[in-house]
Amino acid sequence: MLSNFRLLPLIALLLMQVAVLAQDTPAAKAHKKVLLLMGTRFELVAVSDNEQQATNAIDAGVEEIKRIEALISEWQPTSQTSAINRAAGSMPVQVDQELYDLIYRSIKISKLTGGAFDISFAAAYKIWKFDGSMKQMPSPEQVAASIAHIGFENIVLDPRNRSIFLKDPEMKIGFGAIGKGYAANKARDVMRKKGVKAGVVNAAGDMITWGNQPDGQPWFVGIADPAEQDKVFSWLTANETSVVTSGDYEKYAEINGKRYAHIIDPRTGYPASGLKSVTIICPDAELADALATAVFVLGPEEGLDLVNQLKGVECLMITVKDEMLTSGNLHLHFYQNRQASANMTN
Ligand code: ADP
Ligand code: MG
Repeated sequence: MLSNFRLLPLIALLLMQVAVLAQDTPAAKAHKKVLLLMGTRFELVAVSDNEQQATNAIDAGVEEIKRIEALISEWQPTSQTSAINRAAGSMPVQVDQELYDLIYRSIKISKLTGGAFDISFAAAYKIWKFDGSMKQMPSPEQVAASIAHIGFENIVLDPRNRSIFLKDPEMKIGFGAIGKGYAANKARDVMRKKGVKAGVVNAAGDMITWGNQPDGQPWFVGIADPAEQDKVFSWLTANETSVVTSGDYEKYAEINGKRYAHIIDPRTGYPASGLKSVTIICPDAELADALATAVFVLGPEEGLDLVNQLKGVECLMITVKDEMLTSGNLHLHFYQNRQASANMTN
């Protein structure tokens, strides 16, 4: 099955970077702000010939991301998501249409991915810690007990009352695998509404772009080898699209010398293994975010199979054996010495 895909050796992980080329025309400039939002380094770039417009748009984008975080965070006790989690097993909670719709779409992705993506994964986080504190594997009994409380089928949506009910009292939902993509989409929307014709919203490598760079060139995403971070291995044209990576290189647990990524396979209760990283390329950052996580769980064969069936979705993955696999229609540009590596925005 793998012979259908282009197989290239690659020695290390992916690092996604946006290149802002140096040659800004005097008319339009790339204005940029970097800050911590949703526990992540966000970068907002607005291309404009009007500094005030760019600043206003970036500020509006930041406000939008903060608003979304306050609504969907499972950490902030005042969020509607926390209210749903507190009421698990006892009663439905009425929520804003926006959160209701996000949960609805999340469940659709669970169905599409055979449960590999599941916002009720969080029960497993009681036994797995991905902050470096974990030194021992949980017992198979603990793992089995945790997955008993995972299952998108037990999230009950009532469209008439606009309410959400978690049937199992031990159940919890969280948007760690889709929220940043959703926020990136929405921040792009508000920046566009402020008249900004081109830009980038980049949440620690989960990014969406629109329009062109100031010099009229399309946006490029550089795929680099972190072992030699200033060396770009190849380039992806990233116009009007999102590029989102899920990987094991940021948050993970290391137990007995083996690395466990912070992505749980809801079907087994164990962290997904087999891939080092998955990059999804498609116009919708929310879908890309969710699919990157799901494909990471599904693994190389099933994951590529799924992506190849989805129109407008492409992917690139690095296996634990350092092979690079790409979906059928992904076009990489193997520019060797593109000077842009000196001009990365992150
Ligand atoms: P990152 O946040 O590094 O970009 P992901 O988008 O893949 O990576 O999200 C991983 C996060 O998603 C985890 O930290 C956790 O909060 C949540 N998560 C873990 N496993 C799953 C899963 N199977 N389905 C949905 N969400 C998950
Ligand atoms: Mg994700």
